[in-house]
Amino acid sequence: MTAPLIDPFQRAISYLRVSVTDRCDFRCVYCMAEDMTFLPKRDLLTLEELDRLCSQFVALGVEKLRITGGEPLVRRDIMTFFRAMGRHLDSGQLKELTLTTNGSQLHRFADDLYACGVRRVNISLDTIDADKFAQITRWGRLENVLRGIDAAQKAGLRVKINAVALKGVNEDELLPITQWCAARDMDLTWIEVMPMGDLGNEDRLDQYWALSDLRKAYGAHYTLTELSERTGGPARYVRLEETGQKIGFITPLSHNFCESCNRVRLTCTGQLYMCLGQEDMADLRAPLRASAENAELEDAIRRAITLKPKGHDFDYSRQEVGGQMSRHMSHTGG
Ligand code: SAM
Ligand code: SF4
Repeated sequence: MTAPLIDPFQRAISYLRVSVTDRCDFRCVYCMAEDMTFLPKRDLLTLEELDRLCSQFVALGVEKLRITGGEPLVRRDIMTFFRAMGRHLDSGQLKELTLTTNGSQLHRFADDLYACGVRRVNISLDTIDADKFAQITRWGRLENVLRGIDAAQKAGLRVKINAVALKGVNEDELLPITQWCAARDMDLTWIEVMPMGDLGNEDRLDQYWALSDLRKAYGAHYTLTELSERTGGPARYVRLEETGQKIGFITPLSHNFCESCNRVRLTCTGQLYMCLGQEDMADLRAPLRASAENAELEDAIRRAITLKPKGHDFDYSRQEVGGQMSRHMSHTGG
């Protein structure tokens, strides 16, 4: 038996988020600049390398894999990778294979994803108004995403909608989006917007909509019951008693979940980030490429896990940004 990955604070690492590309067919205003320069292809892990690396994590006890990006479904032949990970579901080593997507390509891949063993998808959608959608995503079209959602549900995938809360943008859609999700039997989670340093979008801060304010807005229309459910991540849940809906709230950089943090993040270039709010990372691409054997890679992973910090010190409040993320979500995968 191989020893599982346990960090210095006795947290078992059972969840890996993997960014498979930094590219995307959207340019969401809070995530990317319009004229993004992407990484040269040679820097990206190949699909075979991603397979080797993720399989090594699974061998070391990772039970949940979330594939993200950039937009994971724009990576060429990405189904080859999903199929490869599906074999770990078949063996029982992996309990869940899932992805976060903007939904634009989902109509093409929903059936294949189901066939690979994927049962749930998170689809990022901040508005159900076509014009607003075009403004937020710059290059996206709402109808494609709606088509993707239809295809996903038809294929048997459980859909969760992730919406970034943007003051003055989708504030007036709190109830319409909630009701739309209820009507389609989709879970809904709101994400607090994080300030990204270098997008030339300093007005982002004006759009900061504290999730505590969202809760209050819900409270004016529904009876809220706090749920004790925890996933080892930053999400907190309430139930709307009148509809029975479960609503999630993600404050990505709040401290209140660090003690149960079970996750690490792999970038598309093979860097492992031990904490979303800290810059510490370990390069796994070099040991991966250095040898066809996995011993060196396993060593590097174990060493990296010993560096997982207890928590992070990122701090920002409604009025003031105490820190800014210099890494884009599209790089670390959100
Ligand atoms: N392209 C896929 C998508 O949009 O779902 C996956 C990658 S995307 C980086 C993952 C998540 O990060 C999305 O739900 C997106 O809304 C969120 N995100 C990106 N930039 C953000 C920011 N500045 N603040 C909060 N969430 C952000
Ligand atoms: Fe692309 Fe997702 Fe970033 Fe939007 S949030 S630009 S869809 S990676």
